[in-house]
Amino acid sequence: MTTVSVVKGEIASEAVRKAVNLIGGIEKIVKKGDKVFVKPNLVAPLTKESGAITDPEVIRVVIKLLRKAGAVEIKVGDAPFFFYKSKKAFEVTGTQQVVEEEGAEAVYLDEDEYLEIESPKAKLMNTIKLPKTLLDCDKFITVPKLKTHSMCRVSLAIKNQIGLLSPEEKRIYHRTDIHQKVVDVTLAATPDLAIIDGLNALEGQGPTYGNAVNTGIIIAGTDVVSVDAVASSIMDFEPQEIPHIRLAALQGLGEMDLNKIVLKGASINEVQKHFKRPSADVMGIYPNVEAYVGCACYEGCLAWTRVELDRLRKHGLVEKVGKINLIIGHDAKVPEELEGRVYIIGDCAEEHKNKGIFVKGCPAFEILGKIQPIE
Ligand code: SF4
Repeated sequence: MTTVSVVKGEIASEAVRKAVNLIGGIEKIVKKGDKVFVKPNLVAPLTKESGAITDPEVIRVVIKLLRKAGAVEIKVGDAPFFFYKSKKAFEVTGTQQVVEEEGAEAVYLDEDEYLEIESPKAKLMNTIKLPKTLLDCDKFITVPKLKTHSMCRVSLAIKNQIGLLSPEEKRIYHRTDIHQKVVDVTLAATPDLAIIDGLNALEGQGPTYGNAVNTGIIIAGTDVVSVDAVASSIMDFEPQEIPHIRLAALQGLGEMDLNKIVLKGASINEVQKHFKRPSADVMGIYPNVEAYVGCACYEGCLAWTRVELDRLRKHGLVEKVGKINLIIGHDAKVPEELEGRVYIIGDCAEEHKNKGIFVKGCPAFEILGKIQPIE
């Protein structure tokens, strides 16, 4: 049986300590003299009020706990979504300041050296490049955010692993295969402890365009699958609904059956909140956005296009782009004449490329930022 703790509380210093103590204390995981790698979720240069990034105050408590356990080196590392720089994300989120104040070291993973290692159990990435800083450490602690994600449904401990990848490997297998990809990264580098920051959280169009919600919880455990299963249940998902949690459990990374997880602290019922579901749908969202979708990947071009529509919404630009047409996927049925701008999104819609602006790729990452207001 694995143990997961759930602690209600708004104050990081109290809730994090209590959650870690309930699973046996930090000393059970970190020994005197250990070098420890701590990975927050710094997906973008946003502040904690967004609900999208790990609260730096949670990182502060983790560093203090590690010091108390006798860790000799504490490295806090992450790289954001590939359009942003790590240094900027560390600064804007406030993580840089906390790390410096606590005498730890900030590691900008997009500037780190990457070493290729063998990962025989992986299904997509039998060789994988991981940050040298992580590989040089004795212990690995992941400190993800409690949030929804339009491609992965939820972004918790297993999804947080994607930030470890090199900039090139972040871009591959970022379609329907993203579920196995995050499991592969977890097989290659399994965290020794996961502490989910749910002091506040994000629902809806995660990872960054959703809404912040008050939750006031911290979830901790040494089995990332169990931690994610409990956290997703708190968000009112069935763990079985989340492909990467299912895959991780099936591939031996941990336990997802709530009946086989010992819960300490609050019960799921006490803290459960229905999170608004994220969506990668692009059809019927806005009257001025017409989507012609054939056979297309939900987590691929559909999701990336939806992120672009969410970006427009967030900045109040949806109406300002005028009438637009989106052609996505293989064998989309498209009228001969189209009114307004036309975007052909993804390699498998290439047959329509002469109808307008072709955004190549599988998936078509470059759709992000591509749809601009009419001059
Ligand atoms: S190009 Fe086609 S196959 Fe590739 S991600 Fe897009 S929809 Fe999927």
